[in-house]
Amino acid sequence: MDRSERRRQLKADRKVIASGLDPINNPQQQIPSLMRVLSEDLRAAKSAGSIDPLMTFFYENMSLSMRRLREVPLACAKGCAHCCASWVAVSAPEVLFVRNAIPAAKMDATRESVSRMHQVTFGRSPDERLVMAVPCPLLKERMCSVYANRPIVCRTAVSMNAEICQRSFIGHSGEPIPSPAWFAVIRMSYDLALCGAIRHEGLSLVSCEFNSALKSVLENPQAERQWLSGENVLAGLQEDPNGDPFRDSTNRQIFAAAFS
Ligand code: SF4
Ligand code: SF4
Repeated sequence: MDRSERRRQLKADRKVIASGLDPINNPQQQIPSLMRVLSEDLRAAKSAGSIDPLMTFFYENMSLSMRRLREVPLACAKGCAHCCASWVAVSAPEVLFVRNAIPAAKMDATRESVSRMHQVTFGRSPDERLVMAVPCPLLKERMCSVYANRPIVCRTAVSMNAEICQRSFIGHSGEPIPSPAWFAVIRMSYDLALCGAIRHEGLSLVSCEFNSALKSVLENPQAERQWLSGENVLAGLQEDPNGDPFRDSTNRQIFAAAFS
């Protein structure tokens, strides 16, 4: 594909995703468009040495997708945070974008609280974390202190009943969270699109436990530049056992459809 064909393709792709992916009507068909747009934006991020414009666009588009489900009666509200005590997995751009939301004046205190929490959660599996109910170190007075930059999984953790959340996340009742499946579709679709762009641009693609990933990038001021240069800034950390979407043959086909 030459340069002008690529420009035309990207223009058409931006139109397809203009209102966010549609989680109800075959989102799989729209994912290649989002993957190509993110890949283009990732190239720009490499040149600029900053992931912020890429991740801002990514999450704004995800919000548009979630807005399509605004009629779904969710119990989620400001100050409700039982779900912030569970396992979270993040990729490098997600955790770097979280780090970029922490003001310089709060950097030392955040580094300390993340490090303290990491000592408690270090090496624990997702199942063990379920019964530990350790709050996220970024939760302040029952609110997310990095709300605008929070990871993908935090955006799509929704429920239609906060009491069940409390019993399940805090009381370990084992009850399933009443979360409409469309939100999981959004999480998987956006995760796949971002992973596809990262893979296509030849950057490091791993997904790790949040506290360990955050501790690592907070202690490494060069992490953003290093990741954009192709280094694995999350090497040696506790990886998400389900973190590689390309183990799935359908996802490999979607990737191939995007870049064939
Ligand atoms: S998922 Fe549950 S705990 Fe989390 S904000 Fe929604 S209702 Fe509250
Ligand atoms: S990053 Fe924010 S939303 Fe996610 S678990 Fe931590 S406090 Fe909760």
